Amino acid sequence: MCLFCKIIAGDIPASKVYEDDRLVAFNDIAPQAPMHVLVVPKAHVATLNDLTAAHDGLVGEMTRRAAAIAADRGYAASGYRTVFNCNADAGQAVFHIHLHVLGGRPLAWPPG
Ligand code: 5GP
Ligand code: ZN
Repeated sequence: MCLFCKIIAGDIPASKVYEDDRLVAFNDIAPQAPMHVLVVPKAHVATLNDLTAAHDGLVGEMTRRAAAIAADRGYAASGYRTVFNCNADAGQAVFHIHLHVLGGRPLAWPPG
């Protein structure tokens, strides 16, 4: 079982900020901004390359949940960033898709 599947199963603790039947969101263990939440589908999908049309609704839910979490923290107007890392050049370390939601400080562009 992958790390995030273990968190979803409750075998590894996480600081959850949201959960429903299809998604979980929890605080990143090594936050890179005052808000650094990971929005994770309960279904195991290794990378963005493994998405199919069957996942379109799920990805929409992830994106809207990220926006809702940012809005709850008061960052809707000031701004925030959402990131999917895919494979080595993007630094993907956990091979279960997750949407990073970062906010609470100015975020440089382009990213490193
Ligand atoms: P990636 O580099 O794959 O896009 O991002 C993986 C993220 O998962 C990293 O930001 C890392 O800090 C976070 N992470 C790794 N292990 C754990 C863990 O055990 N718990 C939590 N909450 N986050 C983790
Ligand atoms: Zn998994």
